[in-house]
Amino acid sequence: MTRILLIGPPGSGKGTQAHRLSGQLHIPEISTGDMFRSHLANGSPLGREIKEFLDAGNLVPDNLTTAMLRERLQERDARNGFLLDGYPRTVSQMDDLDGILDAAGTSLDAVVEITAHDDEIVRRLLLRSDAEGRSDDTEDVIRHRLELYRQETEPVIERYGRRALLVSVDGTADIDAVTVSALQGIEAVRARP
Ligand code: ADP
Repeated sequence: MTRILLIGPPGSGKGTQAHRLSGQLHIPEISTGDMFRSHLANGSPLGREIKEFLDAGNLVPDNLTTAMLRERLQERDARNGFLLDGYPRTVSQMDDLDGILDAAGTSLDAVVEITAHDDEIVRRLLLRSDAEGRSDDTEDVIRHRLELYRQETEPVIERYGRRALLVSVDGTADIDAVTVSALQGIEAVRARP
């Protein structure tokens, strides 16, 4: 049973690592960004509600995000473990997640932070925008997402650090090395007294 969070700025390689780690640890990968994008693509009611936020690189309001996540965590495959990618992103979402886990009588095993410098992030995301055409990968929107990350998400990381759940991994190392460091970090956190 493994319950892990993956946190990092846009362009840190979070999605790639989430995919690899969930495979190696045999736990489902739950990405709120992917869930929102699929609502957008399906044109669901939620998709229509969140479009303006995603396009502008703004965070979707906490109540909508938490409601979607709460439902997802209740699905059978997530009961015995999960890797969350992109949630919580605000202190209020962190409180929501604590409440959800408390009510289920469970708790987190580790929080993995993937770090990268702003210049590297912008470089990677501009490359990705050529390849994938995501509407939020233009330079202005990327810088805005980074700013929100500093304002809203870094305080979340700091709080997990105070709970001794946190491990930080350099996201600018090569892909395999990042995966190895993350797995080692998770083991190290679990071994903490
Ligand atoms: P990135 O990490 O590159 O910004 P994500 O795929 O994680 O990309 O998220 C894309 C967008 O989805 C965000 O800019 C935001 O609009 C929305 N989103 C994803 N997760 C959350 C969340 N936990 N809270 C609010 N909005 C979110």
